[in-house]
Amino acid sequence: MTTGCLFIISAPSGAGKTSLIKALLSKDAHLSLSISYTSRQPRPGEVNGRDYHFVSEQTFREMQVQGEFLESAEVYGNLYGTSQKWINKAIVSGQDILLEIDCQGAEQVRRYFAQAIGIFILPPSGKVLEKRLITRDQDHTDVIRKRLEAVREEVSHVNEFDYVIINDELENAVNNLVCIVNAERMKRERQIKKYQTLIAQFT
Ligand code: 5GP
Repeated sequence: MTTGCLFIISAPSGAGKTSLIKALLSKDAHLSLSISYTSRQPRPGEVNGRDYHFVSEQTFREMQVQGEFLESAEVYGNLYGTSQKWINKAIVSGQDILLEIDCQGAEQVRRYFAQAIGIFILPPSGKVLEKRLITRDQDHTDVIRKRLEAVREEVSHVNEFDYVIINDELENAVNNLVCIVNAERMKRERQIKKYQTLIAQFT
């Protein structure tokens, strides 16, 4: 059985990562998105089990102690983590996996999966990012301020990623994302493993 690709997508808050990922998933049936656990309160419209697994801080910390997370981090004052169990299952089934996590989480995942493919999303400008955060209007003003302050730190990790996409125009950015995913799937090492029998017919 061939092991699927593991994609990590990170971005500063307001870079449009969630819309991009939604569009990518609608175009690619072979990608499975990991649903993270978080201690953050749901935003209007968010659904438990679809957007996140929303848990109390106490439950999250208990899960941490029990080793239930592949990675976990505190981001903007809330706790976020990726389920180890879910990842193990997805890997065994050979699915391509998508993690939408922050740079701290990405660093932890790379320790276990050096072959993980990192994609960083940038907004076209600081002004656009600020406007997106404010017009999203789903967070309190102090939360928005906290997120804006954290952008510089997050962007400083851009060098740790394999690809960078500027989310200027959604359709364009989605197409670029699709290209990266497909190109990674066609990598020689992966294809040679997957098509051993085919190649053997000619060698
Ligand atoms: P939001 O609260 O806006 O949904 O997400 C805030 C930040 O937490 C984003 O940068 C997002 O990528 C990150 N995040 C979401 N889930 C996880 C996770 O499971 N682990 C880590 N490390 N970060 C996460």
